[in-house]
Amino acid sequence: MAFPCPLCGAASRVRTSRMLSATTKETYYNCSNDACCHQYKTLEGDPRTLAKPVNPAQVIPPERLRQLPPTASPSKAPATAITREPGRLRHTVL
Ligand SMILES: [Zn+2]
Repeated sequence: MAFPCPLCGAASRVRTSRMLSATTKETYYNCSNDACCHQYKTLEGDPRTLAKPVNPAQVIPPERLRQLPPTASPSKAPATAITREPGRLRHTVL
């Protein structure tokens, strides 16, 4: 499912994503609209149970929870540069 660009509404492509914890995912997007080229990120998390599972686990076992390394920072995602060429755009990871 494509995520719409919050600026222009065009579909966006996932650039990269990573799990911040067992229940939180950070996703980086590039807007597919060549006139926009917005780069942004989203957070997905806070899952809610809609129906109890057949074999319910009341809590996520602590050993399954991933911890962030002490030096990890969500703002340290690779930066990209956009180069416009006739008929196409090039996204370069810096
Ligand atoms: Zn856009």
